[in-house]
Amino acid sequence: MYDYLIIGAGAAGCAIAHFLKKEGKNIAIIDRDGVASGASGAAGAFLSPLAGKKNPYNSFVNDSLSFSLDFYKEVSSESFIKKGVLRVADDNFSKDRLNELQNEYYSSDALKTICSDFKEIEGFFYADAGHINPAEISAKMIEGCDFYKKDIIELKYENGVYDIHGIRAKNIILTQGVNTPLVDAPYIELSPIFGLRVDAKTSTKIPFNIHKSISISTNKKDNTIAIGATQQRHDSKEMLCNTSCDKCSFYIDDEKTQVEYLLEKANELIALRDLEVIKAYKGARASIKSYFPVVGALIDFDATLEKYPSIKNGTKIPKESLLYHPNIYILNALGSRGFVFAPYLANILSQYLLEKTEIADEISTQKLFFKYARKKV
Ligand SMILES: Cc1cc2nc3c(=O)[nH]c(=O)nc-3n(C[C@H](O)[C@H](O)[C@H](O)COP(=O)(O)OP(=O)(O)OC[C@H]3O[C@@H](n4cnc5c(N)ncnc54)[C@H](O)[C@@H]3O)c2cc1C
Repeated sequence: MYDYLIIGAGAAGCAIAHFLKKEGKNIAIIDRDGVASGASGAAGAFLSPLAGKKNPYNSFVNDSLSFSLDFYKEVSSESFIKKGVLRVADDNFSKDRLNELQNEYYSSDALKTICSDFKEIEGFFYADAGHINPAEISAKMIEGCDFYKKDIIELKYENGVYDIHGIRAKNIILTQGVNTPLVDAPYIELSPIFGLRVDAKTSTKIPFNIHKSISISTNKKDNTIAIGATQQRHDSKEMLCNTSCDKCSFYIDDEKTQVEYLLEKANELIALRDLEVIKAYKGARASIKSYFPVVGALIDFDATLEKYPSIKNGTKIPKESLLYHPNIYILNALGSRGFVFAPYLANILSQYLLEKTEIADEISTQKLFFKYARKKV
């Protein structure tokens, strides 16, 4: 009998497994395709700050970042390269916005003295940033937990216990990313945004990570680099996935153009000499409109509205009185910063589960529930 059964072995699932295991819990983690086989295996995986004036969202991102930089250093220093990032202005981040924290400015000439392969660019340097190997880190995080490769179709609950293909557990944590959720929660409106990472060899020595719409990593120990971006919205009505990106017609049709686009964008920042593509990874990350991730106990939408129909008209019901799916929790919607958020959120969820600490409103299931119930029903 496991204390927790986690479904989805990406950044979210592996991080919560790690924190609960550390507290002495007995953990099983399941994935249909293996560890870090979804968005997490495709991730860049850059750990970068969010520039701009302080607001609730970028404070949340930057708090998560500083927690996660320490976390990765401790968990697997060999899969983590702490090097800063040069941010180059683009349509979303003007020079003023990038310089909000008075970061070090590099002119084009200054960059060329560091590396003559830099193109005519200028930017701001953020020292607190890094780059990880997502598959290695994910595997490291679940050391000591039992892993099962299975495709879960439904959750069976009887006499206070979940029994899933003979794997029994008291609690379930859903960390499914963009995949069709095992428990219906219409208020968590996930949409997938597709992206690509290209691992390549180059003889160019890249002194630090570079970001302008796309990201380029500094050289890893074997001299390879990663180039990544997630920008492509899925236009189809089929918003959630039952297949991996490798098999998704939407993505396959577009792969060549995407790789070329990524390399072209990278070469506008720095000349990548003797470039040889090793492998392209595809993935879809899950986001919700607010950009905040979601974490906590899963509310039973229909049962709660049946009991309290006036919620639709704005009646506020205390969160303890809402009806919840028994012992089911979620950690999802990590967006474009999954590896920045995962350890920070996993720590929050583990404290909530073990010590009953509060979850901040902006990342709670309750916030999404009330909003959706009032607007959509
Ligand atoms: C190309 C790309 C580049 C990115 N770059 C960065 C970056 O630089 N920095 C950063 O921090 N983030 C980045 N991200 C975002 C980051 O990868 C995601 O936010 C994060 O990986 C999401 O993790 P997850 O665990 O929620 O989802 P996933 O990694 O998708 O994991 C969900 C897992 O659940 C499994 N699963 C779902 N349903 C079932 C079921 N019923 N039965 C069994 N298994 C199931 C799936 O197989 C999958 O492995 C990038 C994403 C992409 C796609």
